[in-house]
Amino acid sequence: MKERIFIGVAWPYANGSLHLGQIAGAYLPPDIFARYHRAKGNEVLMVSGSDQHGTPLTIKAEQEGKKPGEIAAEYHQQFLDSWQKLGISFDLFTSTETANHAEVTQDIFLTLLNKDYIYKDTMSQPYCPQCQRFLPDRYVEGTCPYCHSSGARGDQCDKCGQPLNPAELIEPRCRICGATPQFKDSEHFFLRLTEFRDRLLDWVKQQSHWRPNVLNFTMRYLEDGLKDRAITRDIDWGIPVPVDGFDNKRIYVWFEAVIGYLSASKEWAKSSGDSEKWRSFWQGDVKSYYFIGKDNIPFHTIVWPAMLMGYGDLNLPYDVPANEFLTIEGRKLSTSQNWAVWLPDYLSRYDPDPLRYLLSINMPETGDTDFSWREFVRRNNDELVATYGNLVHRVLTFVYRNFDGCVPTPGKSDSRGQALIDKAKDTFDTMDNLLYRCHFKEAIRSAMAVAHEANRYLDEKSPWKIIKDDRQAAADSLYVALVVISHLKTMLYPFLPFSSQKLHELLGFDGNIEDYGWQPHLPAPGQKLLPPQPLFSKLDEGLIEEETARLGQVN
Ligand SMILES: [Zn+2]
Ligand SMILES: [Zn+2]
Repeated sequence: MKERIFIGVAWPYANGSLHLGQIAGAYLPPDIFARYHRAKGNEVLMVSGSDQHGTPLTIKAEQEGKKPGEIAAEYHQQFLDSWQKLGISFDLFTSTETANHAEVTQDIFLTLLNKDYIYKDTMSQPYCPQCQRFLPDRYVEGTCPYCHSSGARGDQCDKCGQPLNPAELIEPRCRICGATPQFKDSEHFFLRLTEFRDRLLDWVKQQSHWRPNVLNFTMRYLEDGLKDRAITRDIDWGIPVPVDGFDNKRIYVWFEAVIGYLSASKEWAKSSGDSEKWRSFWQGDVKSYYFIGKDNIPFHTIVWPAMLMGYGDLNLPYDVPANEFLTIEGRKLSTSQNWAVWLPDYLSRYDPDPLRYLLSINMPETGDTDFSWREFVRRNNDELVATYGNLVHRVLTFVYRNFDGCVPTPGKSDSRGQALIDKAKDTFDTMDNLLYRCHFKEAIRSAMAVAHEANRYLDEKSPWKIIKDDRQAAADSLYVALVVISHLKTMLYPFLPFSSQKLHELLGFDGNIEDYGWQPHLPAPGQKLLPPQPLFSKLDEGLIEEETARLGQVN
């Protein structure tokens, strides 16, 4: 039976380029998942967009003397370009700067307000007497009360990682003009999160299929108790508060960005010509998955579900498979210190599939994993090229030259060959089970085990040696290899879409590999092959030193 799968993907801040930590954490996993489900014939809607609000963006705009919208538009374009090159197959990648998103956000705000899940209260906010404005947390700097380093911000100390609020800073100052801020009362709206604690706790207790890190983190958070949270700010960049007298305030970004999943679905429905179509992914029998990095867990397992419960009539998340972090060359990734590998930089010099391969087989699913250029070259040369690529290339080349460019006709099958084909077929079921539960690392490993096995089989059978004496025996083992290779192209398709499509064509199949479905496609005897080309290329070891030296330098 066809299933319906909604895939929400974390919204990247449009204030900087994407880096490999984000790709491994939140962007590659949903793409693998979406491609797998689409190949299964399931209906998939995968959406995300750039988060174009928030103070990190306005600060960057001020530093560069631009408007926040200009910066956001530049990065949005860059994101779209990166998705296309890396093959991240969103059904819609929009932004929080659309009229549709503002409308959907204001509707949720007003509905929660009418149901008394949002209320008005005053809070004390830093105010700069010189700039004559309220200062968002990040606009206040000072000395950290915990580690006493200077340059701590009103929301966090980067040195010791302690979350802060502006009132805690020693010698606070306005980061625009340097004046000492005063504290003034300001009226704001609050989300009554406390109201949802029991309902959330009951709901979370039923989610035994969640990853243990996500489940434990969420339970701890709920057991510690929830606090109502302010959802408006004294800023002028963002979505207007739809209430009179709040012209100088905006809806705060953490409340608004999660609504993007819903607004993007509505935008997708409108552009498909059926504006009610979004309902089929938000109501009734649908599983909703949210792919995020672990720093985003509470927003997706507590805040967003609470908002959905309050609003009513929309599905709660089915799973939130948050990943752990990717370190770079053994060090914590840091964008401010430029200790990162930037995606556009990578894509300007290398192919997408080797990166997708490394980040899949080394995915930070249950613990942090490390990216190093040495590992990148090793995985590419020893696994993609030597194990999989050479298997494909030597078989296709030999068959092409010795069998008139066509799939040979097998005679009787030998038991060793049949066992290999059976193993490949069984691997579909193994992978099915793993992919369905978002165990991507194990899934790709089981496909690679089949490639290993096929190499061993060919080494034993040595069709290149026996063809002179027994052409049929050579044809038999080569046919077995072609069948297994054809299985591999499908099994690896969610992970390596570009090379799988290429292999699909080299094997003489037409059209899009995804349309052939998640199942074995047997090459027909006599089927015409395309002239062989290697799927992957070997990388020069010299790049390890070069690339490592660039770390911390490029942006
Ligand atoms: Zn500190
Ligand atoms: Zn100031």
